[in-house]
Amino acid sequence: MSNQIAKKDKTQFNKLQKKIRREVGRAIHEFNMIEDGDKIMVCLSGGKDSYTMLEILQNLQHDAPVNFELVAVNLDQKQPGFPEHVLPEYLGNLGIEYHILEEDTYSVVKSIIPEGKTTCSLCSRLRRGILYTFAEEIGATKIALGHHRDDILETMFLNMFYGGKLKAMPPKLKSDDGKHVVIRPLAFCREKEIIKFAEHKKFPIIPCNLCGSQENLQRKKVKEMLQDWDRQFPGRVETIFSAMQNVVPSHLADTNLFDFKSLSQSAVDDTLEDPPTAIDASLLDDEDNNKLNVVNIHH
Ligand code: SF4
Repeated sequence: MSNQIAKKDKTQFNKLQKKIRREVGRAIHEFNMIEDGDKIMVCLSGGKDSYTMLEILQNLQHDAPVNFELVAVNLDQKQPGFPEHVLPEYLGNLGIEYHILEEDTYSVVKSIIPEGKTTCSLCSRLRRGILYTFAEEIGATKIALGHHRDDILETMFLNMFYGGKLKAMPPKLKSDDGKHVVIRPLAFCREKEIIKFAEHKKFPIIPCNLCGSQENLQRKKVKEMLQDWDRQFPGRVETIFSAMQNVVPSHLADTNLFDFKSLSQSAVDDTLEDPPTAIDASLLDDEDNNKLNVVNIHH
Protein backbone atom coordinates (compact mmCIF):
# COMPACT_ATOMS: atom_id res chain seq x y z
CA MET A 1 0.00 0.00 0.00
CA SER A 2 2.74 2.48 1.00
CA ASN A 3 4.57 1.52 -2.20
CA GLN A 4 1.51 2.50 -4.20
CA ILE A 5 1.29 5.86 -2.42
CA ALA A 6 5.00 6.50 -3.05
CA LYS A 7 4.53 5.62 -6.74
CA LYS A 8 1.53 7.94 -7.04
CA ASP A 9 3.46 10.74 -5.29
CA LYS A 10 6.36 10.28 -7.68
CA THR A 11 4.09 10.37 -10.73
CA GLN A 12 2.42 13.55 -9.46
CA PHE A 13 5.77 15.15 -8.75
CA ASN A 14 7.10 14.26 -12.21
CA LYS A 15 4.00 15.85 -13.74
CA LEU A 16 4.49 18.99 -11.66
CA GLN A 17 8.17 19.17 -12.51
CA LYS A 18 7.39 18.84 -16.21
CA LYS A 19 4.78 21.59 -15.96
CA ILE A 20 7.13 24.02 -14.22
CA ARG A 21 9.88 23.16 -16.69
CA ARG A 22 7.50 23.75 -19.58
CA GLU A 23 6.37 27.11 -18.19
CA VAL A 24 9.93 28.25 -17.57
CA GLY A 25 10.90 27.12 -21.07
CA ARG A 26 7.97 29.03 -22.54
CA ALA A 27 8.87 32.23 -20.67
CA ILE A 28 12.51 31.92 -21.75
CA HIS A 29 11.43 31.44 -25.35
CA GLU A 30 8.72 34.13 -25.49
CA PHE A 31 10.93 36.79 -23.96
CA ASN A 32 14.23 35.60 -25.43
CA MET A 33 15.61 35.47 -21.90
CA ILE A 34 18.64 33.29 -22.57
CA GLU A 35 21.00 33.50 -25.52
CA ASP A 36 24.05 31.55 -26.57
CA GLY A 37 27.08 32.44 -24.43
CA ASP A 38 25.07 34.05 -21.62
CA LYS A 39 26.50 34.08 -18.12
CA ILE A 40 23.48 34.13 -15.85
CA MET A 41 23.80 35.26 -12.28
CA VAL A 42 21.05 33.43 -10.39
CA CYS A 43 20.11 35.35 -7.25
CA LEU A 44 19.40 32.98 -4.38
CA SER A 45 17.70 34.24 -1.26
CA GLY A 46 17.25 30.83 0.33
CA GLY A 47 13.49 30.97 -0.30
CA LYS A 48 11.38 28.41 -2.19
CA ASP A 49 11.20 30.50 -5.36
CA SER A 50 14.92 30.99 -5.94
CA TYR A 51 15.73 27.35 -5.12
CA THR A 52 13.10 26.27 -7.65
CA MET A 53 14.41 28.68 -10.27
CA LEU A 54 17.99 27.42 -9.90
CA GLU A 55 16.91 23.77 -10.00
CA ILE A 56 14.85 24.23 -13.17
CA LEU A 57 17.48 26.35 -14.93
CA GLN A 58 20.12 23.71 -14.19
CA ASN A 59 17.73 21.10 -15.45
CA LEU A 60 17.09 23.00 -18.69
CA GLN A 61 20.79 23.72 -19.16
CA HIS A 62 21.41 20.05 -19.95
CA ASP A 63 19.01 19.92 -22.91
CA ALA A 64 19.10 23.55 -24.08
CA PRO A 65 20.02 24.16 -27.73
CA VAL A 66 22.24 27.05 -26.56
CA ASN A 67 25.19 27.14 -24.17
CA PHE A 68 24.90 29.25 -21.08
CA GLU A 69 26.61 29.44 -17.71
CA LEU A 70 24.91 29.64 -14.31
CA VAL A 71 26.49 31.34 -11.30
CA ALA A 72 24.53 31.29 -8.04
CA VAL A 73 24.87 34.30 -5.77
CA ASN A 74 23.51 34.90 -2.30
CA LEU A 75 23.80 38.07 -0.27
CA ASP A 76 24.19 37.49 3.45
CA GLN A 77 22.66 40.68 4.81
CA LYS A 78 23.74 39.90 8.35
CA GLN A 79 20.29 39.41 9.76
CA PRO A 80 20.43 37.98 13.27
CA GLY A 81 20.20 34.20 13.16
CA PHE A 82 20.98 33.88 9.41
CA PRO A 83 22.15 30.27 9.04
CA GLU A 84 25.41 30.92 7.16
CA HIS A 85 26.22 27.27 6.52
CA VAL A 86 22.97 26.35 4.69
CA LEU A 87 23.58 27.77 1.20
CA PRO A 88 27.29 26.89 0.91
CA GLU A 89 26.43 23.30 1.84
CA TYR A 90 23.53 23.13 -0.60
CA LEU A 91 25.39 24.78 -3.48
CA GLY A 92 28.57 22.81 -2.80
CA ASN A 93 26.60 19.60 -3.27
CA LEU A 94 25.16 20.89 -6.55
CA GLY A 95 28.65 21.43 -7.91
CA ILE A 96 27.78 24.83 -9.31
CA GLU A 97 29.91 28.01 -9.22
CA TYR A 98 28.61 30.14 -6.38
CA HIS A 99 29.42 33.22 -4.34
CA ILE A 100 28.18 34.31 -0.95
CA LEU A 101 28.48 38.07 -0.54
CA GLU A 102 28.47 39.58 2.92
CA GLU A 103 27.19 43.08 3.59
CA ASP A 104 25.53 44.30 6.76
CA THR A 105 22.51 45.99 5.20
CA TYR A 106 20.49 44.85 8.23
CA SER A 107 22.16 47.46 10.50
CA VAL A 108 21.85 50.14 7.81
CA VAL A 109 18.10 49.49 7.43
CA LYS A 110 17.54 49.37 11.20
CA SER A 111 19.36 52.67 11.68
CA ILE A 112 17.30 54.46 9.02
CA ILE A 113 13.77 53.06 9.29
CA PRO A 114 11.84 53.89 12.48
CA GLU A 115 10.81 50.95 14.69
CA GLY A 116 7.55 49.32 13.60
CA LYS A 117 7.71 50.52 9.97
CA THR A 118 8.12 48.11 7.06
CA THR A 119 11.77 47.82 6.11
CA CYS A 120 11.45 45.65 3.00
CA SER A 121 11.54 48.38 0.42
CA LEU A 122 14.85 49.93 1.56
CA CYS A 123 16.29 46.48 2.26
CA SER A 124 15.51 45.26 -1.27
CA ARG A 125 16.87 48.43 -2.84
CA LEU A 126 20.19 48.02 -1.01
CA ARG A 127 20.28 44.33 -1.90
CA ARG A 128 19.60 45.08 -5.56
CA GLY A 129 22.43 47.64 -5.69
CA ILE A 130 24.95 45.20 -4.22
CA LEU A 131 23.87 42.35 -6.48
CA TYR A 132 23.91 44.50 -9.64
CA THR A 133 27.43 45.73 -8.83
CA PHE A 134 28.59 42.15 -8.32
CA ALA A 135 27.00 41.06 -11.60
CA GLU A 136 29.18 43.62 -13.34
CA GLU A 137 32.29 42.40 -11.50
CA ILE A 138 31.81 38.81 -12.65
CA GLY A 139 30.77 39.79 -16.18
CA ALA A 140 27.25 38.38 -15.91
CA THR A 141 25.17 39.11 -18.99
CA LYS A 142 21.83 38.43 -17.27
CA ILE A 143 20.55 38.54 -13.70
CA ALA A 144 17.85 35.97 -12.88
CA LEU A 145 15.33 36.71 -10.13
CA GLY A 146 12.84 34.22 -8.70
CA HIS A 147 9.61 36.23 -8.98
CA HIS A 148 6.63 34.18 -10.15
CA ARG A 149 3.27 34.92 -11.72
CA ASP A 150 1.54 35.67 -8.42
CA ASP A 151 4.26 38.20 -7.49
CA ILE A 152 3.75 39.88 -10.86
CA LEU A 153 -0.03 40.06 -10.44
CA GLU A 154 0.20 41.29 -6.86
CA THR A 155 2.55 44.05 -8.02
CA MET A 156 0.12 45.05 -10.74
CA PHE A 157 -2.79 45.40 -8.30
CA LEU A 158 -0.61 47.22 -5.75
CA ASN A 159 0.37 49.72 -8.44
CA MET A 160 -3.26 50.14 -9.45
CA PHE A 161 -4.69 50.42 -5.93
CA TYR A 162 -2.00 52.51 -4.29
CA GLY A 163 0.02 54.05 -7.12
CA GLY A 164 -2.62 54.89 -9.72
CA LYS A 165 -0.55 53.15 -12.39
CA LEU A 166 -1.20 50.23 -14.69
CA LYS A 167 2.16 48.52 -14.40
CA ALA A 168 3.50 45.28 -12.98
CA MET A 169 6.86 43.53 -12.91
CA PRO A 170 8.07 42.51 -16.38
CA PRO A 171 9.50 39.05 -17.14
CA LYS A 172 12.51 40.77 -18.70
CA LEU A 173 13.81 44.30 -18.23
CA LYS A 174 16.81 46.53 -18.56
CA SER A 175 17.95 48.10 -15.30
CA ASP A 176 17.55 51.87 -14.91
CA ASP A 177 21.27 52.47 -15.48
CA GLY A 178 21.06 50.45 -18.70
CA LYS A 179 23.85 48.11 -17.58
CA HIS A 180 21.92 44.97 -16.71
CA VAL A 181 19.28 42.73 -18.19
CA VAL A 182 17.10 41.19 -15.51
CA ILE A 183 15.10 38.06 -16.27
CA ARG A 184 12.31 36.33 -14.33
CA PRO A 185 12.19 32.76 -15.63
CA LEU A 186 9.36 31.82 -13.23
CA ALA A 187 7.09 34.53 -14.68
CA PHE A 188 4.56 31.96 -15.93
CA CYS A 189 4.63 29.71 -12.83
CA ARG A 190 1.98 29.78 -10.14
CA GLU A 191 3.14 30.14 -6.55
CA LYS A 192 1.03 27.19 -5.40
CA GLU A 193 2.92 24.93 -7.81
CA ILE A 194 6.27 26.24 -6.61
CA ILE A 195 5.23 25.58 -3.00
CA LYS A 196 4.43 21.95 -3.83
CA PHE A 197 7.64 21.56 -5.80
CA ALA A 198 9.76 23.02 -2.98
CA GLU A 199 8.05 20.79 -0.40
CA HIS A 200 8.75 17.71 -2.43
CA LYS A 201 12.38 18.69 -3.04
CA LYS A 202 12.78 19.51 0.69
CA PHE A 203 14.83 22.62 -0.07
CA PRO A 204 16.61 23.97 3.03
CA ILE A 205 14.48 27.12 3.22
CA ILE A 206 15.84 30.18 4.99
CA PRO A 207 13.01 32.49 6.10
CA CYS A 208 13.25 36.06 4.81
CA ASN A 209 11.82 37.65 7.94
CA LEU A 210 14.69 36.76 10.26
CA CYS A 211 15.11 40.53 10.38
CA GLY A 212 11.83 40.74 12.31
CA SER A 213 10.18 42.93 9.68
CA GLN A 214 6.43 42.80 9.36
CA GLU A 215 5.10 41.62 6.05
CA ASN A 216 3.92 44.51 3.90
CA LEU A 217 0.26 44.75 4.86
CA GLN A 218 -0.94 46.03 1.49
CA ARG A 219 0.78 43.21 -0.37
CA LYS A 220 -0.67 40.71 2.09
CA LYS A 221 -4.20 42.03 1.44
CA VAL A 222 -3.75 41.89 -2.34
CA LYS A 223 -2.39 38.36 -2.07
CA GLU A 224 -5.45 37.33 -0.05
CA MET A 225 -7.74 38.95 -2.61
CA LEU A 226 -6.12 36.97 -5.44
CA GLN A 227 -6.21 33.74 -3.44
CA ASP A 228 -9.91 34.31 -2.72
CA TRP A 229 -10.61 34.83 -6.42
CA ASP A 230 -8.62 31.74 -7.24
CA ARG A 231 -10.83 29.68 -4.91
CA GLN A 232 -14.13 31.24 -5.93
CA PHE A 233 -13.52 31.69 -9.64
CA PRO A 234 -10.99 29.13 -10.88
CA GLY A 235 -9.20 30.45 -13.94
CA ARG A 236 -9.66 34.12 -13.14
CA VAL A 237 -6.06 34.68 -12.06
CA GLU A 238 -4.84 33.06 -15.28
CA THR A 239 -7.17 35.27 -17.29
CA ILE A 240 -5.88 38.42 -15.61
CA PHE A 241 -2.33 37.36 -16.45
CA SER A 242 -3.35 36.75 -20.07
CA ALA A 243 -4.79 40.25 -20.10
CA MET A 244 -1.34 41.59 -19.28
CA GLN A 245 -0.12 40.02 -22.51
CA ASN A 246 -3.01 41.35 -24.50
CA VAL A 247 -3.09 45.10 -24.00
CA VAL A 248 -5.13 47.38 -26.25
CA PRO A 249 -3.83 50.95 -25.77
CA SER A 250 -6.57 52.43 -27.96
CA HIS A 251 -9.16 51.12 -25.47
CA LEU A 252 -7.52 52.55 -22.40
CA ALA A 253 -7.09 56.22 -21.63
CA ASP A 254 -3.36 56.97 -21.69
CA THR A 255 -2.73 59.77 -24.16
CA ASN A 256 0.98 58.91 -24.16
CA LEU A 257 0.28 55.41 -25.40
CA PHE A 258 -2.33 56.21 -27.98
CA ASP A 259 -2.90 59.35 -30.01
CA PHE A 260 -6.55 59.99 -29.15
CA LYS A 261 -6.26 63.65 -30.15
CA SER A 262 -5.71 62.79 -33.80
CA LEU A 263 -8.82 60.61 -33.96
CA SER A 264 -11.45 62.20 -36.12
CA GLN A 265 -14.32 61.06 -38.27
CA SER A 266 -12.33 61.66 -41.43
CA ALA A 267 -9.24 59.79 -40.24
CA VAL A 268 -9.53 56.09 -41.07
CA ASP A 269 -8.33 54.09 -38.13
CA ASP A 270 -8.57 50.33 -37.87
CA THR A 271 -8.80 50.50 -34.07
CA LEU A 272 -12.44 51.54 -34.59
CA GLU A 273 -13.34 48.29 -36.31
CA ASP A 274 -13.96 46.48 -33.01
CA PRO A 275 -17.63 46.06 -32.06
CA PRO A 276 -18.62 48.92 -29.77
CA THR A 277 -18.73 46.90 -26.56
CA ALA A 278 -16.78 47.43 -23.40
CA ILE A 279 -16.06 43.69 -23.08
CA ASP A 280 -15.19 41.09 -25.69
CA ALA A 281 -18.29 38.86 -25.57
CA SER A 282 -16.53 35.84 -27.07
CA LEU A 283 -14.53 35.48 -23.87
CA LEU A 284 -17.54 35.07 -21.62
CA ASP A 285 -19.88 32.19 -20.82
CA ASP A 286 -23.66 32.36 -21.27
CA GLU A 287 -24.37 33.69 -17.82
CA ASP A 288 -21.83 36.45 -18.28
CA ASN A 289 -23.20 37.14 -21.75
CA ASN A 290 -26.64 37.81 -20.25
CA LYS A 291 -25.09 40.30 -17.88
CA LEU A 292 -23.14 41.74 -20.77
CA ASN A 293 -26.34 42.98 -22.36
CA VAL A 294 -26.38 45.50 -19.56
CA VAL A 295 -22.93 46.87 -20.40
CA ASN A 296 -23.24 46.97 -24.19
CA ILE A 297 -22.67 50.46 -25.45
CA HIS A 298 -25.36 51.41 -27.90
CA HIS A 299 -24.76 54.24 -30.30
S1 SF4 B 1 11.68 40.63 5.34
FE1 SF4 B 1 13.59 41.58 6.11
S2 SF4 B 1 15.24 40.68 4.91
FE2 SF4 B 1 13.32 40.24 3.83
S3 SF4 B 1 13.14 41.94 2.38
FE3 SF4 B 1 12.02 42.53 4.21
S4 SF4 B 1 13.47 43.69 5.41
FE4 SF4 B 1 14.65 42.55 3.90
